[in-house]
Amino acid sequence: GFRCGIVGLPNVGKSTLFNALTRTAAAQAANFPFCTIEPNVGEVSVPDARLTTLAEMAQSKSVIPARLTFVDIAGLVKGASKGEGLGNQFLANIRETDAIAHVLRCFEDDDITHVDGRVDPVADAEVIETELMLADLESIEKRLVNLQRKIKGGDKEAKEQEALLQKAKAAIEDGKPARTVEIEEDEEKAWKMLQLLSAKPVLYVCNVEEDNAAEGNAQSARVAEMAKEQGAVSVVISAAIEEEISQLDDAERDEFLGDMGLEEAGLDRLIRAGYELLNLQTYFTVGPKEARAWTIREGTKAPQAAGVIHGDFERGFIRAETIAYDDFITLGGEQKAKEAGKMRAEGKGYTVADGDVLHFLFNT
Ligand code: GDP
Repeated sequence: GFRCGIVGLPNVGKSTLFNALTRTAAAQAANFPFCTIEPNVGEVSVPDARLTTLAEMAQSKSVIPARLTFVDIAGLVKGASKGEGLGNQFLANIRETDAIAHVLRCFEDDDITHVDGRVDPVADAEVIETELMLADLESIEKRLVNLQRKIKGGDKEAKEQEALLQKAKAAIEDGKPARTVEIEEDEEKAWKMLQLLSAKPVLYVCNVEEDNAAEGNAQSARVAEMAKEQGAVSVVISAAIEEEISQLDDAERDEFLGDMGLEEAGLDRLIRAGYELLNLQTYFTVGPKEARAWTIREGTKAPQAAGVIHGDFERGFIRAETIAYDDFITLGGEQKAKEAGKMRAEGKGYTVADGDVLHFLFNT
């Protein structure tokens, strides 16, 4: 599955947010830096109205949404790349994620200590980004040295790695995170393998006061501007509200959101933003037993999409009976779509489209 790491300075609201996301008290929130010591892992459902519509149409007994994994990563402080605070552990945990949700404190509250004694989310973002870049620089330099022997031995892969590491190094020395480096399509795989921390896509999560949950505040506006400059994404959320909402049932929740002037829970926006950030999309399998959403990266071919369900589906792939979501809905289900000639038999070269309703045929 896809993993999104929640990072941020101590006391910005990471645990509160994580609790809300996973509806557990496992990530203990407390007004104390370094409270979150172990990485906490939680799975969340990806909200998708299409799945509900499909399930109703097919009268599916169970409905299984796509899942996204969030990891609450231990507090980072200035100097983490040099092992301060929980630095090294933090960096190791972040390496294993596909994207970073970076929580920034945009709320004023004199009772909640800020590690640097002031509320300045843009400066906070820089503190963390700098640590990630310093950690990258150190690992890049080590790796460049280690590669030399292989390169002398004529290892082509090592040569390619060296070129990519040099690109990343140049960017970082220029004060820019590795995600700003332009990568050719045929280099993408090797680039990902480098697992550079500052290369991961970032979603800024502005944690604002309850009163500002709908519109944000001056601080979140600054973050939005910064995100825009970096080609990153930002969302406004009130972690405190989200935690309250997470304890309500659906009806209470809608009423509460209405009272607050909110159209949907911030978490739903956050999850969707995370989904977009990772370039993820959804295909569906629909039948009387279950309607289910599956997550793939944009551009995934039919056999690999099948492999998300089971490795055997990919290995023995024959074809995918495919109905576009809109056809399925407008025509009124699988049978009618089929009769209208809208069920396509797609082969190995087919790139799955967002919303496709698929049925795989495979050899065992
Ligand atoms: P973490 O260290 O980043 O995980 O931060 P926590 O989630 O533990 O939150 C630290 C403290 O800030 C806790 O006492 C929270 O109740 C409080 N807090 C979190 N979000 C908000 C918020 O939006 N507004 C206010 N006033 N307090 C918050």
